[in-house]
Amino acid sequence: MEILPGLHRIECPIGPRYVALYAIVGKVDILLVDTGFDGSIRETLVPYFKEHNLSLSKVRYAINTHSDYDHTGGNGAVKELMPNALICCGERDRPMIEDLQIMIDDRYNEFAHDHGFAESQEAVDFIRTVAFESKIDIGFAGNERIDLGGRMVEILHTPGHSWGHLSVLDEQTGAVIIGDAVLGESVLLADGAPAFPPTYRFVEAYRSTIRLLKAYKPSEVLTSHYPRYKGQLGLDFLDLSLAYTDRIEKICFETIQEVAKPITMLELIEIAHTRMGPWPDPAYKYLVYPVLGHLEVLESYGKIKRSKNSAGIDTFSI
Ligand SMILES: [Zn+2]
Repeated sequence: MEILPGLHRIECPIGPRYVALYAIVGKVDILLVDTGFDGSIRETLVPYFKEHNLSLSKVRYAINTHSDYDHTGGNGAVKELMPNALICCGERDRPMIEDLQIMIDDRYNEFAHDHGFAESQEAVDFIRTVAFESKIDIGFAGNERIDLGGRMVEILHTPGHSWGHLSVLDEQTGAVIIGDAVLGESVLLADGAPAFPPTYRFVEAYRSTIRLLKAYKPSEVLTSHYPRYKGQLGLDFLDLSLAYTDRIEKICFETIQEVAKPITMLELIEIAHTRMGPWPDPAYKYLVYPVLGHLEVLESYGKIKRSKNSAGIDTFSI
């Protein structure tokens, strides 16, 4: 729906969840934020454009907020159906977005070698059925401004969930479209129930991103998997997300302290996940993203030590 003048939010189903794509309409160009799955473009966005008299050939920029396949999987369809579209992303995320195999190896299976946590072959195969990559035309660093014709948008570098994560500030409405840059206390199902943990990965960058977004005092915080957060609700969402990081870090440290012997990251998660959130098995296992981030922070401050067990898996101790 057109939630603000010339700013459309298009919710596309992804199983029991949705990914919200956004279109910002200027006098000359349209800027699209995220491309969802292949089907998000073909089955949801294209009919939406038709219904609202928006021209596919006016789409000049299609920005991937970050290197996850539910945000980039429609890139192939965009290239096919929108003849003037340039696919854009944060420069640091470019290799993963241009090549799904790099995304699978470096992002989803990052934890396989040192932590013994890998995606199932079934999950990897599924990615290949819903996501189709294309080359990136423009890699942004952040702080770029784009003129859509009487309407300026600003590209913000908002790392944490990924290194190259981008957000888009619409100067006309003051709304900021943040993709998955900030993730609250849980990623949500379409009905608002908790789906899986907030999968931020680079903790100090994530905290800085939350503070940066607060400083912009956005009129509205628009995410990919959460309802609209207007005014104070947006600021509250940012505060809640920041407080969550402190809570999880404390739980990680206390658990290692209480166990009093070296434990692996997965052992830590088994012991502590019910204190971290309400997710069922196996959803809680995606705590690997934030928990490894927090273990890295604790290690960098000399509060915990890392070594390896006899199976070659990393362990953590005081
Ligand atoms: Zn997402």
